[in-house]
Amino acid sequence: MKKLFKNGKVLDIIAKQVKEADILVEDGMIAAVGKDLDVPKNIKTVDLKGMTVLPGLFNCHVHITSEPDPRKDKPKSDAALTIQAMNNLALHLSSGVTYIRDVGSANFIDIELRDAVASGQIQGPDMQVSGRCICMTGGHGWATGRQADGPDECRKAAREMLRAGADWIKVMATGGVMTKGVEPGAEQLTTAEMAAIVEEAHKKGALTCTHAQGNTGIKNALAAGIDCIEHGIYLDDEAIDTMLKQGSWLVPTLCAPHFILKYGIAGGVPEYAVRKTEIVHDHHFASFQKAYKAGVKCACGTDAGTPYNPHNGTPNELVLMVKSGLTPMEAIETATINSARLMGVEKSLGSIEVGKKAHFAIFRKDPTEDIDNITVCQMTVKNGEIVYKK
Ligand SMILES: [Zn+2]
Repeated sequence: MKKLFKNGKVLDIIAKQVKEADILVEDGMIAAVGKDLDVPKNIKTVDLKGMTVLPGLFNCHVHITSEPDPRKDKPKSDAALTIQAMNNLALHLSSGVTYIRDVGSANFIDIELRDAVASGQIQGPDMQVSGRCICMTGGHGWATGRQADGPDECRKAAREMLRAGADWIKVMATGGVMTKGVEPGAEQLTTAEMAAIVEEAHKKGALTCTHAQGNTGIKNALAAGIDCIEHGIYLDDEAIDTMLKQGSWLVPTLCAPHFILKYGIAGGVPEYAVRKTEIVHDHHFASFQKAYKAGVKCACGTDAGTPYNPHNGTPNELVLMVKSGLTPMEAIETATINSARLMGVEKSLGSIEVGKKAHFAIFRKDPTEDIDNITVCQMTVKNGEIVYKK
């Protein structure tokens, strides 16, 4: 089936240019991009009336079963969590997001959702998932994570996640803000424990990412060969050098500390989380700026599901990246082609090019001119189908 998306301003993220163009889609794939395309008469046409077409956005750090309103965050049944997660998938689509990576959900619900989206049973962004995070006993994320101690048990835990169908293994190298009684700066899983997990993941072609905030924990994770650092609050020159040498990725999740401080205790965020965020907030932003400037590969993720960090909030991360000194084009690059590279899907997604899947995020005004324009999505297209319209 052929379809024409006409009269758009189309972003070529590789050339970093916006040009007036039509996009011809055939069977969900981009067949041609340009003006005066040779198209069949009576072809199904969507008139974009000068709106700007970006590649579908990526959010590489979400918790799809998590509730961002701390006042509603209470223990729930798996059925309730699944319903909530399906609503969250729709929220991602409504903000132009067509690809997410879940880095820690309850009871393998993320794995079921990924498969249901892939088979067309339900609508949602494409997904890569990690099942339950692996943490030390009593460590960050223990309430929903798989607690494991010692290299042998960590190896077993990694094998369990791979057996369940995880694409990524998520581990906890340090404490964090949202778990009571642990500190962001303190290291948790040891280098030997993480190395056993990395070895198991890589043997099966899966990748690894770690919640890592304190400096020693970040270095432990890098020494273990972790592929992607999440948050990376206390990166120093030595850690950045190692990341550059090893080709490690950073997903900064600037939204997480931003919204905890914005809404604070008055908004129902636990006092311990606000106190810890007050300490780490400025370091977090400075660390991202330093790593980006040094050339560390960065992808977009929000930590959606943490307090007041909603599942339709991916554009907020781009706004915060621009506040941190990136150009709008650079911020869009992190959330499209760079994130596609982190997910290993850059051959089929992440840019609007012939031969790639027709995943688009469409905006009334051009986000490359003013990043605030990205906060209101007009239309989301996935595999050539309109899956959201404002
Ligand atoms: Zn997270």
